[in-house]
Amino acid sequence: MSAFSIWHMQQPHRGSERSFRLGILTGWLDLVFPPVCVVCGKPVAIETGLAEWRPLLEERVRRHPDRAYDLLWLGGKPPQPGVSNFLCPHCLAILSFSGWISCPKCGGQVDDESPSPDGCDWCRRERFAFKGVVSLGPYAGPLGEVILRMKHPSGERLAHCMARLFCCERGEKLRELAIDCVVPIPLFARQRRRRRINSPEILAETIAKYLGVSLETTLLRRVRDTRPQRTLKPRERWKNVRDAFSVEVSIHDVWRSKLATFWHHAIIRQGPTADTSHDQDEHAKLTSAVRANRGPYHPRLRDRRVLLVDDVLTTGATCHAAAEALLRAGAREVFVAVLARGQGDDDSVAAAMPLHETEFRPW
Ligand SMILES: [Zn+2]
Ligand SMILES: [Zn+2]
Repeated sequence: MSAFSIWHMQQPHRGSERSFRLGILTGWLDLVFPPVCVVCGKPVAIETGLAEWRPLLEERVRRHPDRAYDLLWLGGKPPQPGVSNFLCPHCLAILSFSGWISCPKCGGQVDDESPSPDGCDWCRRERFAFKGVVSLGPYAGPLGEVILRMKHPSGERLAHCMARLFCCERGEKLRELAIDCVVPIPLFARQRRRRRINSPEILAETIAKYLGVSLETTLLRRVRDTRPQRTLKPRERWKNVRDAFSVEVSIHDVWRSKLATFWHHAIIRQGPTADTSHDQDEHAKLTSAVRANRGPYHPRLRDRRVLLVDDVLTTGATCHAAAEALLRAGAREVFVAVLARGQGDDDSVAAAMPLHETEFRPW
């Protein structure tokens, strides 16, 4: 990958005409400085890059001029300009997890072709505050190793690339959720300083750009330091993150939400509203129970469908705690997007495993 393509990949959304020219320029520079795979470091074949996707890109830009930037890197399958310049075909095939069927409630792998929305055997009895999970693959083998490498200071490029791969592979599922805003799981200030790279934020930024919705990085805060979840047993994990997140609301919004609540009660007193009359499923009951216990609304969250983004989900405790905070601040529904889904204690195993002992050795 040339220095210019890295720079271009990290740029925020720009006007269509300029993005288009930049894309073409990036492509030509890649011809001069051939891009290399971000995972294995081997050169990426040029024929999978510019030559193949340029006609397709030009046609799409003509049809949707306002979405040119997205199309520059997510031009659709099969050429996949977004990832074919950064991943070699071998790594792309390994990390795409095209055959991965996941449980819509917890994101874990299931055998059933059409998994039940009530959850799999593992999660059926769990009462998560989030409504569903979209995952790319299992937190083991190649994906486990890639995620560990993403957390290193040098893993930023890899994180950007995996975020694009996630959008290419799971974009349809994400669009079906009709998300209004994207919120990354925040790190505590000390964790942020230590890690230097915030992979959930990189992932969230790319997903928000892909979905064309707002990215909210300052809404949700980690209000206290927690021990690393991977060092704890499943039961301790729930305790560790309880009330660890909150949404800060200004004094102005406190008064606004008090007025809104007063108005709401005034209407309810006059008779039942449409909102209370319909049948509620199990999740809706839980959501309304959390929201009944809410603090003041945040205007940017009120009645919005929020996508929480993290790199790994294992017990679901962290995402549950964060989703509760979002629901209390007025969010209508919370969904979760994660790169990898850990099963049981898998993530502690993967974290303890040195990189060279994993099965994935493309180099
Ligand atoms: Zn590779
Ligand atoms: Zn499940």
